[in-house]
Amino acid sequence: MEFRDLKRQYERLKVAIDAQIEKVISSAHFISGEAVGEIESALAEYVGVKYCISCGNGTDAISIALLAHNVGSGDAVFVPDFTFFSSGECPAAVGATPVFVDVRKDTYNLDVDSLERAVRRVIKEGKLIPRAVIAVDLFGLPFDYEAVRSVCNKYDLLLVEDAAQGFGGVYNGRKACSLGDISTTSFFPAKPLGCYGDGGAIFTDDESIANLCRSIAVHGKNAGDKYDNVRIGMNSRLDTLQAAILLPKLQAFKDYELENVNKVADFYTEKLEEIEGLILPAVPENCYSSWAQYTVQLPETVNRAVVQNFLKNSGIPTNIYYIKPMHKQGAFSNTFSEVADCPITEGLCEHVLCLPVHPYLMECEVNEVVCALKEVLHNYRAI
Ligand SMILES: *Cc1c(COP(=O)(O)O)cnc(C)c1O
Repeated sequence: MEFRDLKRQYERLKVAIDAQIEKVISSAHFISGEAVGEIESALAEYVGVKYCISCGNGTDAISIALLAHNVGSGDAVFVPDFTFFSSGECPAAVGATPVFVDVRKDTYNLDVDSLERAVRRVIKEGKLIPRAVIAVDLFGLPFDYEAVRSVCNKYDLLLVEDAAQGFGGVYNGRKACSLGDISTTSFFPAKPLGCYGDGGAIFTDDESIANLCRSIAVHGKNAGDKYDNVRIGMNSRLDTLQAAILLPKLQAFKDYELENVNKVADFYTEKLEEIEGLILPAVPENCYSSWAQYTVQLPETVNRAVVQNFLKNSGIPTNIYYIKPMHKQGAFSNTFSEVADCPITEGLCEHVLCLPVHPYLMECEVNEVVCALKEVLHNYRAI
């Protein structure tokens, strides 16, 4: 069994993907070719935002979004303590200070009370200016938009949505990638919508910000002339091959993948509900997840390594996202973030376990995972 079976997906889409690849190679237009504009329009339309700017990866997308809003030195950027490193790396890379905030135990997403406490603490200390929140759609579930938005409005903070894992999710009828003042995503192969290498995109309704992002992503070029460089930027483009590969993949995502991965997740939930002490991922009523991960919390009395090993020996791959709170990462030692008070994140890092999940996972495979998990947890109780 694969954790995320990209080979099975390719078998299904092979004819369309191979044709796209061939088309790009025979056109020899490898950078900024036709498919790049096509996928940008298709993505903007799908998420319901005016402008989509593709770029090299989901990490650059966050940095470009921050740079386009002039976030930098002296600014505090509030970031969930439980997320992938990029969410905190990017604010630091543009010169700002990430301030880590705790998450909720049920949804794994930003906890607004903790967010507001952190904002107040920063104001009280008076060293940094609260500037932005990076709200992550962790594991495919949109963050609590209305609650976070109200804190952003109250303290005049820019809302950046890191939807690297969130593409396809829905909050109150609005798609992920449309929830921030500016939103970003990643096309890393294992994300809900992945390409065959690195790729990313930025989404905004603001035309001047969109133009700025385009400029920053391509060496700070002037809108009309790429050899007229008006600011320091970076080299961060989605290449034509990746854009072309994304075209049939986006179609499959819309046609059946998103629906199928939800069936897989529902099936897991239905079967796992019987296991006492296991905490399952919660999806609030007004939300729809794209299930980048299916993450459970093991009972506190259980040794996770033993469970993981047992599953591995039964041919079931698992992962731990995330093993360490952001504020404990060595890269952030000696920063303001040391004062982070994030007990929920610390607990999650010790007890979470991510099970195989993807649109091509079969019911019998889910059953296999469930049975193995039941067996090892049952043995555990017997010891
Ligand atoms: C994967 C990921 C990123 C970074 O995306 P890359 O394309 O790998 O640079 C950023 N944030 C989160 C939450 C992610 O999961």
